[in-house]
Amino acid sequence: MTSRKPLPGELDAIETASRDEISALQLERLKWSVRHTYDNVESYRKKCLEKGVHPDDLKTLSDLGKFPFMTKLDLRDNYPFGLFAVPRNKIARLHASSGTTGKSVVVGYTQNDLNNWADVVARSIRAAGGRAGDMVHVAYGYGMFTGGLGAHYGVERLGCCAVPMSGGQTEKQVQQIMDFKPEIIMVTPSYSLVIAEEFERLGIKPDEISLKVGIFGAEPWGEGMRSEIERKLGIDAIDIYGLTEVMGPGVACECIETKDGPVIWEDHFYPEIIDPETGEVLPDGSEGELVFTSLTKEAFPVIRYRTRDLTRLLPPTSRSFRRIGKITGRSDDMLIIRGVNVFPTQIEEQILRDKRLAGNYQVVVTRDGHMDNLEVRCEVQRELSGKLPQSEIQQISKELQHRIKTIIGVSTKITVMEFDAIPRTQVGKAKRVLDERPKRD
Ligand code: ADP
Repeated sequence: MTSRKPLPGELDAIETASRDEISALQLERLKWSVRHTYDNVESYRKKCLEKGVHPDDLKTLSDLGKFPFMTKLDLRDNYPFGLFAVPRNKIARLHASSGTTGKSVVVGYTQNDLNNWADVVARSIRAAGGRAGDMVHVAYGYGMFTGGLGAHYGVERLGCCAVPMSGGQTEKQVQQIMDFKPEIIMVTPSYSLVIAEEFERLGIKPDEISLKVGIFGAEPWGEGMRSEIERKLGIDAIDIYGLTEVMGPGVACECIETKDGPVIWEDHFYPEIIDPETGEVLPDGSEGELVFTSLTKEAFPVIRYRTRDLTRLLPPTSRSFRRIGKITGRSDDMLIIRGVNVFPTQIEEQILRDKRLAGNYQVVVTRDGHMDNLEVRCEVQRELSGKLPQSEIQQISKELQHRIKTIIGVSTKITVMEFDAIPRTQVGKAKRVLDERPKRD
């Protein structure tokens, strides 16, 4: 259904500019961004001094490779506002994402940042086949998570009508789609299939559903899932990529005419692929870890932020910008469960808050239909093993489940076992995560 392809005149000029023009703009913006960060973010300046580099050393785009990386650890160490590059009274909004431990990572935006964000999300929706006047059902979660509000302001910026439904309440989602007749839905791919199944349950056929386009992101999904979603909802399914630290959704988005991987909005986000072990920059086309440098962000600039996402940089096709291939995995142990980022260490922290539980645990991820399930297996302390009544074991599970749900935001099944029930590793690291999900192809 490529009739929704935008006309050339509807695109921003930079989307079809020559690579030379793009590189020139990137270099100018990169110099500004590195200087801005160096001047205003003390911990980054320190890192540069330690490495012996200075913003004046940035003469070409490839000089960026001399600069230090930023990681999630930097965000944690500078919690909450230590990496902000503008005074607190210039921050127009805060968002947060999961950190590796209990504290989430906090990011801030100036009004200009929010404007740019709305622009790139609007550009993403247009690339996906959206146009002014469309109604967009936003089923990403609203709140501290960037998904809902990030999508929302882009919808409005493009001149569309936003339906701020947020996640959950599947029956209501379906009812509202039938009543309001939106053309577009923005949601995680896994939840879109739950919605599709509710339509099926009600006997509603794809051609009776008003939706034409779905814009899906926040978790990895593959071509198999794309065809399933397209078939079940009768839509074009488009991949949108983003992460809180870099901006939120809309760092990159696929074009409806090619569906060949998200196009990176390279006038705002400069990508590199590195070897996750050595940090060496790899040529385009090689598989490695995706690294981003923000080119226009004022409040929370990132220089060489290590996303931990493993993928490749692909040459431009339908726009002049490069694309990313499918995200094939991560170079850390973060799990994405129903769109929520979960680190095993966060679960560990919640287990250890109960003195009756021992430190050994295992997180088991399975897939039931389209939805991922998380089981947490933990053990009681050695001295309590075999001595606790069933009612207390149940109480322990209930409390742990509640803590994980309220603090990390994910529902789990808890299995409390006797001491020593979880296999110990004899060598090396404990195997904390058993990911039994079939690979999404
Ligand atoms: P988001 O709102 O996109 O979920 P988070 O900061 O919570 O933002 O999570 C970002 C992470 O989600 C990314 O680093 C990546 O691992 C994953 N992600 C986001 N979009 C996609 C996508 N389209 N395909 C695969 N993974 C994605």
